[in-house]
Amino acid sequence: MSNEIFIKFLDLKSVNSIYEEEIKEAVNKVINSGWYILGEEVEKFEKEFANYCGAKYAIGVGSGLDALRLIIRGYKELGIFEEGDEIIVPANTYIASILAITEENLKPILVEPKLDTYLINPENIEEKITSKTKAIMVVHLYGQTCEMDKIWEIAKKYNLKIIEDSAQAHGAFYQDKKAGNLGDASGFSFYPGKNLGALGDGGAVTTNDKELAQVVEALRNYGSHKKYEHNYKGINSRLDEIQAAILRVKLKYLDKENKKRKEIAKFYLENIQNKKIILPKILTDSVWHLFVIRTKERDKLQEYLSQKGIQTLIHYPIPPHKQKAYKKWNNLSFPITESICKEILSLPIYKTLKTENIEYISKMVNSF
Ligand SMILES: *Cc1c(COP(=O)(O)O)cnc(C)c1O
Repeated sequence: MSNEIFIKFLDLKSVNSIYEEEIKEAVNKVINSGWYILGEEVEKFEKEFANYCGAKYAIGVGSGLDALRLIIRGYKELGIFEEGDEIIVPANTYIASILAITEENLKPILVEPKLDTYLINPENIEEKITSKTKAIMVVHLYGQTCEMDKIWEIAKKYNLKIIEDSAQAHGAFYQDKKAGNLGDASGFSFYPGKNLGALGDGGAVTTNDKELAQVVEALRNYGSHKKYEHNYKGINSRLDEIQAAILRVKLKYLDKENKKRKEIAKFYLENIQNKKIILPKILTDSVWHLFVIRTKERDKLQEYLSQKGIQTLIHYPIPPHKQKAYKKWNNLSFPITESICKEILSLPIYKTLKTENIEYISKMVNSF
C-alpha cells in the first residue's frame, strides 16, 4: 500500500486560489469603501444573482437556513401560512430544510424519495396532503432538479406554494428554467463548499413575487424598510459586503465550474463499472454538487478507498427523523430514506481534481 497518494474530498484552498487576485481586489475595494453592511456590493450581487437564476428578485441573507426560514416567515407575515400548517418535504434532506420549517412553528410532513434519483417522489406527495398543507418544499439534492412538471401539477390542484431548497443546485436547469425560478420562492446557500461558495456564510432568497421579496428584504434587517421604523419582528440575517463582493467574482465563473463538474461526472459514469456499485440516475439536469454512489457494502468501500488515499463523505448518514434533535419522530419508519443513508457514498468532485485523480478514483472503485 502506498501512502503517496492522498486525494481530499474537497480542496477549497485550491478551488479559491484560482481567483485569488480578483478576490483580493474585490475585498480591498470593500475595505477601502468604509461601508460594510447592505451597500453597493450586496445590491449589485442581488441583481446579478436574480438575473443568473432568471428570477425577478434576489435578497442576500446570512445563510441557506435563514433563506428558507425567511421565506416561511415572509408567508406568515403575508397571512398565507399560519403556525401549525404543514409543509411537505423529502425525508432524506439535510437537516436545514426541516429546521427552517420547525423553527417557524410549522409542521414538516416527510415524504419518501425515489431510490434511484434520491429526489422527492411526486407519486408519494398527494396521499400526504391535508387541509393544513400549505406548501411543498422541493430539495434539488446533490445538484439535480426535482421532477417539477408533476410537482407543479399537484401544487396547482391543491393551491400549494412551492418552496425550493436550492442550496445544492446553483445553475441547474429544469427544462428551460433554472433552480431559483422553479417555484414560488427559493432558498440558496453560499456556504464555502457549495457550487457557488463564499469565504464564509451567506445565502439568498429568489422569487418572482414582489410582495414576498419586500417582506423578506425587511425581515432580514430587523423588519425594517426604513431606518428605525420596524414593520415586522425581523431578524439580523444580512449578506455582508465582503462576501457579496467575493460572490460577484465567483458568480462569473459558476457556469465554468459547473461544466467541469459535469465533465468529471461524465467520466465517472462512463468509467465506473462494478457490479456492487450503483451509479446516480439523472432524469432532469444536475450541476453535480455531489457525486453519490450506492452499495450494500458502503462502510467497507469507504474504508477501502481511504486505504487507497481517497477521502469520501456520506451525505447524509442519519436522516432527520432519526436525529436526537427530533426525538418524537425517532420511531417513524421511512425505509427508502433509511436504506439510502446506509448505502450512499460521495466521491470527490471539484474543479481542481486532475484527470489522473479522476482516473485513479474510478480505477480504485472498480477494483473494490
Ligand atoms: C447547505 C444546505 C443548507 C443550509 O445552508 P447553510 O448556508 O449552511 O445554512 C440547506 N439545505 C441544503 C440541502 C443544504 O445542502
